[in-house]
Amino acid sequence: MVKVFLKHGRDESLRRFHPWVFSGAVAQVQGSPAEGDIVGVYSAEGQFLASGHWQVGSIAVRILSFDADPTAPDFWIDSISRALSVREAVGLVAASGQGTNCFRLVHGEGDGLPGLIIDWYDGVCVLQAHSVGMWRAKGQICEALKAVFGDRLKAVYDKSSGTAPFKAGLELVDGYLYRAPGFEAREAVVLENGRKFLVNWEEGQKTGFFLDQRDNRELVGRYAAGRRVLNLFCYTGGFSIYALTAGAALVDSVDSSAKAISLVERNITLNRAPGGGQLPPETSGCAGPLPSGDGPLPLTMPRVARFPEAVAASAEQVCNSYCEDAIDFLHKTEEGKYDLMIVDPPAFAKHRGALKNALRAYQRLNAAAIAKVAPGGLVFTFSCSQVVDKITFANTVFSAAAQTGRSVRILDRLCQGADHPVSIYHPEGEYLKGLLLYVE
Ligand code: SAH
Repeated sequence: MVKVFLKHGRDESLRRFHPWVFSGAVAQVQGSPAEGDIVGVYSAEGQFLASGHWQVGSIAVRILSFDADPTAPDFWIDSISRALSVREAVGLVAASGQGTNCFRLVHGEGDGLPGLIIDWYDGVCVLQAHSVGMWRAKGQICEALKAVFGDRLKAVYDKSSGTAPFKAGLELVDGYLYRAPGFEAREAVVLENGRKFLVNWEEGQKTGFFLDQRDNRELVGRYAAGRRVLNLFCYTGGFSIYALTAGAALVDSVDSSAKAISLVERNITLNRAPGGGQLPPETSGCAGPLPSGDGPLPLTMPRVARFPEAVAASAEQVCNSYCEDAIDFLHKTEEGKYDLMIVDPPAFAKHRGALKNALRAYQRLNAAAIAKVAPGGLVFTFSCSQVVDKITFANTVFSAAAQTGRSVRILDRLCQGADHPVSIYHPEGEYLKGLLLYVE
């Protein structure tokens, strides 16, 4: 294995289990590794520190292990089993009997596997490699998934063409690494807290669905009964479906992508049971009864640890979807038309250089939403930009609120779900942040 020696005093972060070695910390490389090779990292004094994938760029090594040998035959099976244990610990695996059969199985650094994302959609694993090392390891990862899940695995789809480093000149073509005999589906209806969502992993954005918002969608469901809801940047309508099935009076969904809007409409239909009433039980054995709730909740409901039951959206509920720019839509919206808004834009800043403009965009967007929401209304506002930390985001929303002159309180601070864990040694992994605002 190629040896990478660090400069004097540059081993501190690795000793604190940070998973990256920056190129500026490297003193000497013994050998000439190809991008994606597994290398050993040593202190200036020659002490072994960790091993990981060699990269070209500002991050020279992404650490796979501080002790185990990543080239050992069981490395990938162990790593995936450990990731699965986290999802088991928070009830997501058992939840497949209670209305949730999709979750993030591997969340990069948060699972000790920098550069690897795997989402689980009821037996279909969608893999995205963000590094050459992970892309080259995809065959072994697929074999490990087969070993860990056995018959429960229906397919492994590699969707790395948009995520692996294009400068590496790899031949990036998305496709199936594995399909169980007879499995030919290219999309599936999955369940999240009893709600149904059509996921097309081949054509959808990212891996097909934004799993990180599951808990925040449930929170929207908690507050949506009787309210008029505007879901901006709705994608396939995750928040819209929770609002509808919680008894919202009106749900308007806005996204600039025509494909997304057509999926919103299909998802609304899926969740509207014929004749109304409770969603019919699933025959697949995936959905079971949800914990019983108290039916539609009054607007003044106190904060209690119980969510309203998912009921089938009724045909009387008004819902519209608009393929439009969200900011243009907000500008045209009359003040007070909505009393619950969701603002969940794409990452405005993908790197540090874009931060200043991104913060301006977040401020403009939030000011427009806060200005338009009805008195006593709620705004769920999010940022998924990794380079915008939660304090900077809160300050930006503060400036937006001040711009409107309205009285605004923070009711809740929101983040990504537990299947998107953050390594305590890599706080940068906490990328999704949100605030629930009460606007007087
Ligand atoms: N809230 C969604 C995820 C949002 S992802 C969920 O729960 O699933 C961000 C979405 O914003 C994408 O669907 C993208 O198509 C949309 N988008 C990007 N720019 C936009 C714009 N200017 N106006 C409206 N939608 C936009």
